[in-house]
Amino acid sequence: MSSLPSEPAAAGGGIRLRALTRSFDRAAPVLRGLSLDIAPGQFVALLGRSGSGKSTLLRILAGLDADYSAERLQLPPSVSVAFQEPRLFPWLRVWRNVVLNLPGADLRAVALAALEEVGLDAKADAWPQTLSGGQAQRVSLARALARQPELLLLDEPFGALDALTRVTMQKLVLDLWRRHRPSVLLVTHDVDEAILLADRILVLDQGRIVADTAVTTPRPRRLSDPALDPLRATLLELLGVVAEA
Ligand code: ADP
Ligand code: MG
Repeated sequence: MSSLPSEPAAAGGGIRLRALTRSFDRAAPVLRGLSLDIAPGQFVALLGRSGSGKSTLLRILAGLDADYSAERLQLPPSVSVAFQEPRLFPWLRVWRNVVLNLPGADLRAVALAALEEVGLDAKADAWPQTLSGGQAQRVSLARALARQPELLLLDEPFGALDALTRVTMQKLVLDLWRRHRPSVLLVTHDVDEAILLADRILVLDQGRIVADTAVTTPRPRRLSDPALDPLRATLLELLGVVAEA
């Protein structure tokens, strides 16, 4: 399959994607003519069943997979990604992990500033294996931030964390988004997480976006808010989850 070099900058951090197709080997395509626009600064959540192609889409947007075809793929110049696993190098101290492969001088100052934003500047000189799961995930976020992304891609970033840490991390991501206003594409399994955080929720199924819903309830949102119930019910149904009585 031929890949298309991505076009230059969508103004201010947006995405324009048309007719994206990706297959593996001789299997049926995982993504089949998928089109998607994301406006600059928008916080978008992407839901979909396991195996529906969410990570495949994110890897292509992150520039980690060039083996796709598309009529158009327009991305901002600066894109960062964070995954479910923090992917830190154990032989590098925390601050060096944060600025790994970054060009420029005074990288320690850059690392410290990013670590401060996630509340971990005190751990700059620690080794990754001394961190808790939540702390390691903060370092991973700091590494994404240090690149000053106009587009932040998050692939189930809280999936491996305990419930309390997850809530703290969700607040942190919202906070960082408000401060820096990148576009965010957050892949999550969790309908409630999508409802709490996003401006807009997409559902991926059969290789395409099958639902695209704005979340208009102002933040901070409470999951107990009955105004969110119809949206939750719709999303669960689209995901093939039958709500319990
Ligand atoms: P999701 O993140 O939604 O759970 P993925 O994007 O990881 O789903 O995977 C979508 C489909 O593509 C799955 O059927 C998976 O087996 C297949 N797939 C993903 N990556 C590869 C690969 N490198 N080689 C072969 N098949 C793959
Ligand atoms: Mg995945």
